[in-house]
Formats: sequence, C-alpha cells, structure tokens
Amino acid sequence: MTDATPALLHDLTGGDPIVILAPHPDDESLGCGGLIAACRASGIAVHVISMTDGAASHPNSVQWGNGRLAAQRRAEMVDALACLGCTAQDVTFLGHPDAKLASVDPQLVCDQVAAVCDRLGAKTLFAASSQDPHCDHEATAAVAETVAASRPGTQLWFYPVWSRWHNRDHLSAHGPGTPRVFDTRAWAAAKHRAIDAHASQLGRIVKDDPSGFAMDPDFVRFFTIEPEIYFEGTPCRPK
Ligand SMILES: [Zn+2]
Repeated sequence: MTDATPALLHDLTGGDPIVILAPHPDDESLGCGGLIAACRASGIAVHVISMTDGAASHPNSVQWGNGRLAAQRRAEMVDALACLGCTAQDVTFLGHPDAKLASVDPQLVCDQVAAVCDRLGAKTLFAASSQDPHCDHEATAAVAETVAASRPGTQLWFYPVWSRWHNRDHLSAHGPGTPRVFDTRAWAAAKHRAIDAHASQLGRIVKDDPSGFAMDPDFVRFFTIEPEIYFEGTPCRPK
C-alpha cells in the first residue's frame, strides 16, 4: 500500500451521486463496500447496477436452478446494500446471463446504464477493472468506458477484485494509472456484514453442488480489512 496515493471521498465522488457497475451481486461489497457506506453516511446518493444475474455460481445444482439462484442473489444484494446504507430502490438488476455478458448487445447494455445515470444525474461511474480475469468483469469495464465517453464530464473509476486477489503485492498490475487508496477502516464492520449477506457465495445456501463457487475465508478477510483501490479510467468508444 505504500506506493499508492490516498483518496478522500470527495476526490472519488465530487460529492455528487455515483453509479457503481457490479458484474455480479457481491462485487459491489467486495470492491466498493467501504465507499458505498461512506457515501451514504455523507448523504451522497449511490446507485448500484448488477449487470448479470449471478446464476452461474453453482451450475451443477439441481435444487438451485438459474431462476431460483438468481432470485436468491438479488435478495442477498439488497440485504448487502442495506448494510451499507442503501435501500432496495438504490439497485437495478439488469439480469443479463452470468458469464455471458459479452454476448449481449453492447448498445443495449450501454443504453440501460446510461438511463440510470441520466435519472440520477450521476457524473461519476465506478466499474470492475478490465484487468480482472473474468469475462463479465472485462465486459462491464468496456460498457463503463463507452457510457462515460458518451457523457462528457463523466468521471470514471475502476475497482479491482480478482486481479487484486491474484496479485496482492503489485498494485500497478491492477490497472493503468496511479492507484488511489481509499481508507475503509471506519466502515470495516459494515463492509463485513455486506459481504456476509452474500450467503450463497459463502457456501451456506446451495448444498448440492460441492464444485460450486465459495469465497475463501482469507479472501473475505482480505477485502474486509484492506483499503479499497480505485484506478482512474479513460472514457473511450468501442473499437
Ligand atoms: Zn464478479
């Protein structure tokens, strides 16, 4: 953490409403939970967009088919955001297929995100990092870049999740530009409750797919206690 530049809440948000793009329900809590809690405590509006339905975490479960698991994950995300000071009105579920966001018409997805930004008057957009080695995270980052390019004056920030976990010692590897570090110690308890609300991703809900996804306890601990990292993005139109 020593070679990163600290960021205050105002540096990241400008004090105006923000929109956060989460590829899956849980990315918002892991990558931005402290920022969300800090915003709400300061009266800054936050709206989170869940890009996919998250239904691919337990593909072999018979008891938890896609529809049931997607509903569970929506409920978990609402609970998680409540821990951070948001209400159910502060989240939009686009419901695109998990692990297949890149197969959805990008113009449709960009229009959906832009509509939320318009409604909120948001000038700052946060998205999962394109450096995260997951196709939905990469697709989400591309959508954010396109939406920001279409809205002059939009500030774009990327938050790393998987790239940070896989490469904890090298901040510069998580994204272009200088990493900005946001101190989340005041929000660690709220952030822990938010991550914990994603019970299906912690091995507590789906019992008939042992090969399904479950967060490692060390992963939970890391994202609970470490400060958050944001990289300034550059708005750009699709190639
Ligand atoms: Zn994700």
